[in-house]
Amino acid sequence: MVAYKSSIEYAQEQDENDPLRAYREKFHIPVINGIETVYFTGNSLGLQPKSVKNYLDEELEAWKNWGVEGHFEAKRPWFSYHEFLTDKIARVVGAKPIEVVVTHSLTTNLHLMMVSFYQPKGERYKIICEKKAFPSDQYALESQARFHGYDPSDAIIEVGPRPGEHLIHEEDIVRAIEEAGDSLAMVMIGGVNYYSGQLFDMKRITEAGHKVGAYVGFDLAHAAGNVKLELHAWGVDFAAWCSYKYLNSSPGGVSGMFVHERHANNKELPRFSGWWGHDKDTRFLMEPGFNPMPGAEGWQLSNAPVLGMAAHLASLDLFDEVGMDALIEKRRKLTDYLEFVIEAISERNKDRCEFEIITPKEQERRGAQLSILSHGMGKTLFDAITKEGVIADWREPNVIRIAPVPLYNSFEDVYRFGTILEKAIQA
Ligand SMILES: *Cc1c(COP(=O)(O)O)cnc(C)c1O
Repeated sequence: MVAYKSSIEYAQEQDENDPLRAYREKFHIPVINGIETVYFTGNSLGLQPKSVKNYLDEELEAWKNWGVEGHFEAKRPWFSYHEFLTDKIARVVGAKPIEVVVTHSLTTNLHLMMVSFYQPKGERYKIICEKKAFPSDQYALESQARFHGYDPSDAIIEVGPRPGEHLIHEEDIVRAIEEAGDSLAMVMIGGVNYYSGQLFDMKRITEAGHKVGAYVGFDLAHAAGNVKLELHAWGVDFAAWCSYKYLNSSPGGVSGMFVHERHANNKELPRFSGWWGHDKDTRFLMEPGFNPMPGAEGWQLSNAPVLGMAAHLASLDLFDEVGMDALIEKRRKLTDYLEFVIEAISERNKDRCEFEIITPKEQERRGAQLSILSHGMGKTLFDAITKEGVIADWREPNVIRIAPVPLYNSFEDVYRFGTILEKAIQA
């Protein structure tokens, strides 16, 4: 364990030695009521890269000047705009270019993936997911089960924490998979749990699922741009994620999909299709008979939402410059420092308020986020720090979720957070 210190000098020294310190300047940090915020909700909506405006302006200009001709005449032709994102997002999620495509929204893409990879037949119809999955995922899974004529309470097996615990043991997931055996059609789990911040061993879960003959996919909303992903090497069948959390690509921005290379040319997989997934060379012949493009592109329904993609491209260019490894290295230091600061405050003030960090302690089992259970003080404490400029996330009954983001948060942010928090406790 590194010897951290609770002092502004120490935090500033860490910032000076941070190889990524210049990147904070490339983002707009919100100033609310005259206070520069400590923005710790990049796990909910990432901040705006200053470069986004230029990327958007280029497309607005192209639209203004070319109208429909922009599909071919724009500097980045809209006809194939999504292709500008492919290599870059592939590097973020550890995929081959043929395995990824950016388009639609996350829940839409999850459904598209499940149309192909949830194929219940006879006795094999069960789904394994984590308990307390993000609500949209729960609804999507329930509706998929119903769509195939099953009762969700029978078809869906939820694996949760053991009694009195907050995290899920991976061995419990693996055991549930083994027990379901031949009855298991699909595993679909959040790669990083949105509530606890727990990062799952996706390789292990994928292998366990494949062993019993099930397809395995992940919702990577809280993982993409946050943790190291090796989707291709892990053999994951499918995945989807959004771009507006750690990927900083505008509210409700475009999503990404991953389909493993081994399915790239499988035209037998059931799928919901649209014209943009059709073979590119014959797409405009507009003839009947769907002929999917190889790889993830074959799951596209619609032509590229260019404005959302332009914002995403601006952000992915930053990710490309920095690289996931450097990002993760800083993320570890930053989140460790935050953990240290919170624990020190908890220790000093435990007669008033004690904090219990429910996120795993081990770096390889978490990303940027820490989920803090507050014992003694709850919503009033949260409201007090919000007033002082901390943007965090509150979940009933008493959990504060915070995520310092390595691209734009600083050690000084962490220190300031601690100062504000302690003052609020003692007020
Ligand atoms: C943020 C998030 C979503 C949101 O889905 P949208 O379709 O983008 O609204 C879904 N699932 C998880 C796990 C999330 O974290």
